[in-house]
Amino acid sequence: MEPQRSPLLEVKGNTELKRPLVKAPSRLPLPGSRFKRGPDQMEDALEPEKKRTRGLGTVPKVATSHPRATVLTTVPQTQGQTAAPKVPKKTGPRCSTAIATVLKNQKSGPAVPAQKPGTAAAPPMLVGKKPSKRPAWDLKGQLCDLNAELKCYRERTQILDRENQQLRDQLKEAQQQATALGAERRTLEGELARVQAEAEQGQQELGNLRARVLELEERLGTQEALVQELQKEQLGLQEERRGLAARLEEQERKLQTSEAALSGSQAEVASLQQEAVAQAALLAERGERLHGLEMERRRLHNQLQELKGNIRVFCRVRPVLPGEATPPPGFLLFPSGPGGLSDLPTRLSLSRSDERRGTLSGAPAPPTRHDFSFDRVFPPGSGQDEVFEEISMLVQSALDGYPVCIFAYGQTGSGKTFTMEGGPGGDPQVEGLIPRALRHLFSMAQELSGQGWTYSFVASYVEIYNETVRDLLATGTRKGQGGECEIRRAGPGSEELTVTNARYVPVSCEKEVEALLHLARQNRAVARTAQNERSSRSHSVFQLQISGEHAARGLQCGAPLSLVDLAGSERLDPGLALGPGERERLRETQAINSSLSTLGLVIMALSNKESHIPYRNSKLTYLLQNSLGGSAKMLMFVNISPLEENVSESLNSLRFASKVNQCVIGTAQANRK
Ligand code: ADP
Ligand code: MG
Repeated sequence: MEPQRSPLLEVKGNTELKRPLVKAPSRLPLPGSRFKRGPDQMEDALEPEKKRTRGLGTVPKVATSHPRATVLTTVPQTQGQTAAPKVPKKTGPRCSTAIATVLKNQKSGPAVPAQKPGTAAAPPMLVGKKPSKRPAWDLKGQLCDLNAELKCYRERTQILDRENQQLRDQLKEAQQQATALGAERRTLEGELARVQAEAEQGQQELGNLRARVLELEERLGTQEALVQELQKEQLGLQEERRGLAARLEEQERKLQTSEAALSGSQAEVASLQQEAVAQAALLAERGERLHGLEMERRRLHNQLQELKGNIRVFCRVRPVLPGEATPPPGFLLFPSGPGGLSDLPTRLSLSRSDERRGTLSGAPAPPTRHDFSFDRVFPPGSGQDEVFEEISMLVQSALDGYPVCIFAYGQTGSGKTFTMEGGPGGDPQVEGLIPRALRHLFSMAQELSGQGWTYSFVASYVEIYNETVRDLLATGTRKGQGGECEIRRAGPGSEELTVTNARYVPVSCEKEVEALLHLARQNRAVARTAQNERSSRSHSVFQLQISGEHAARGLQCGAPLSLVDLAGSERLDPGLALGPGERERLRETQAINSSLSTLGLVIMALSNKESHIPYRNSKLTYLLQNSLGGSAKMLMFVNISPLEENVSESLNSLRFASKVNQCVIGTAQANRK
């Protein structure tokens, strides 16, 4: 059981409770001001809240647990402290008991109104003089005392009621304040939660920032390492830069030296340029002179050739071949000229014993000497190079723009093909006139290119057999068959002749010429098997169209060089019986004889300056007409067999050649355009 406490004691005990109730409102934070505080200020802001909460916590105690305590809280302290303690001592046991009884009875009743400060004066009985103790018999006096005491208590009760009312009002006010504070507390709690959330977020951000800081620190470390590395590199580069600066300085010094040298060189260059200009002028002048000289050379060369004769005849005697009967001594003689042995041989003497006269006298008749003179005679020992040397001048004429035609005339086996194409086996020593002439042309053209001349060469090679023309350069399916060709003018009114269906092959080197000669040999070989040694019964005509141009001077020259291996000139023995083979042979021979005699007639007509030149009488002369005319230069090789058995044919050949040799064709003119 709670010990019964004196109201006065309670008053004293509750004096502490009054302070917070009075002071509480003043401690409330100003509305709105708390929102302006930062998170770190919140703790301070919350502190008064707690204090208020503690202060408020006493209110319900006052209101509910100890309702009586509030009765005495309003008792002024001055009085409470001065008068109240005296009450229990000065009141007698009856009064104390009475008061206790009254208070006990009032526990559930209305509270005694609080005594207003200043107004709560103690009842006179209490503060007055203490009545003396009545004797037991004085009941009236005691009753009177008790009435006085009752009155006192009644007054006191009224005071306490008022005080109680006052306290109730205060309580109400306090409750209102508590409600307001509760609302405020909720607001603050909400705010606290938000602030806490913010703080958490802040923490999280802080964590993130710490991680970021760590990361940045790491990066900083890396960067610092990099910086160190770069610093090291910078040091290296500075060192290098110093080295380069030194080199640069050196280079600059060198440059200055070079510039000095350059300016010297420039002066030299300027003087050299002047010199070069002078040299160029000189060169142009020399070029001009050279050209003049070249033209003069051509003119003189031509004059020389003309002096030598536009128609020349060379006689070549082939050596006796192994297995052939050696001719008797004196059969062939090469008498020396007036200049003795130093003169080049031009004469030939052939001895023939006349069998008929020998028969009449009964004794062998002395051999008849036949003397011939030609432009040049080549005895059996003469080499191909020696022969070519003589005709290289003619080849030069062809390059200068004069048509040139070289024939090989003679019976079969006299060495015509050997002279023109060369011996067997591809031995360069026995190379014929055709490859030598072309090589000479190519090299001369190369030389003349230095003087501004450009040359081109186009080759063709045909054979004329029984008055039909066949291409010896035919390839593919036409090979060997040599489909018939026709000789036509290149165009209406054109002097130039062309062979239809024949190949015209541009050549620029020996190899190409070799290939063409090889092809011609193959074509002839195929024909030979088909037609029995046709090659000796046909004319082979190798033609090279030479075209030269001096672009700078607008000069052009062109001429054909024809190298003709004529068909065997031998006659058919009229005493032979005419079988089918012989008849064919006779026809061949007639054709050959006809064309060879036409060639002789053409040369004669040209020599006699006849108005009509019978070119058309044979395919050969028709094809060669441009190489035989007035400006042309002609050379005929008469090939002779050294054998006695061929003496008749040799004499025929030599006679024909002599006739030709007597011909003089008018002054040759270069074909200049
Ligand atoms: P053709 O063409 O006049 O019928 P070839 O040129 O075929 O005569 O010559 C007949 C043979 O004589 C060939 O074997 C050839 O090699 C040879 N011959 C011709 N002339 C000479 C020469 N000057 N030197 C050596 N051999 C020659
Ligand atoms: Mg031949």
